[in-house]
Amino acid sequence: MSRPAILMDRDGTLSHEIGYVNHASRFRLFSYAVDAVRLINRSGYLAVLVTNQAGVARGYFPETVIHEVHAGLQAALQAGGARLDGLYVCMHHPSVGEPPYRQDCDCRKPRPGLLLRAQRELDADLKRSWVIGDRHGDLQVAWNVGARAALVKSGYGLGEWSYHMPKWPRQPDLVAEHLLEAVERIVSESGAA
Ligand SMILES: [Mg+2]
Ligand SMILES: [Zn+2]
Repeated sequence: MSRPAILMDRDGTLSHEIGYVNHASRFRLFSYAVDAVRLINRSGYLAVLVTNQAGVARGYFPETVIHEVHAGLQAALQAGGARLDGLYVCMHHPSVGEPPYRQDCDCRKPRPGLLLRAQRELDADLKRSWVIGDRHGDLQVAWNVGARAALVKSGYGLGEWSYHMPKWPRQPDLVAEHLLEAVERIVSESGAA
């Protein structure tokens, strides 16, 4: 039976926004990240990470760095009794770098490809799902598939909220200080049942 998902952005949402994570040693989870994912696990929502990593296409770091970062992430989550049900990455850029990474793909957020993979592979019910992220593109990708969108004020989020949000034609369905607050409010309001 299909289940709704909470689809999280990575940099600025689950981990500190430090620019390109061009070495695994630069990756730093937020202190509340494991608690947030564990809460999703217990809520009945699928926990899914969706991240643009165009630094690969740009040649700033090899694809292996992404796998190393995500192995560390999964280990940290597992140590805290949490897990991701899905982890989807776009490494493409439409105009920079070399093929196959240079391509006008369908998965670079706000395009919906990563979310459609979650729908297909995890049987995620996107209409009942949420995307949580720190940038406008994270909100747009939610709305592009009929999901709801939560803006967090971590990472780029405070700047988005302060200087850009008033001009957006559509306002976020939820604004939270950080990922854990967003998850708490989503699961307490709706539940996944
Ligand atoms: Mg981000
Ligand atoms: Zn892509």
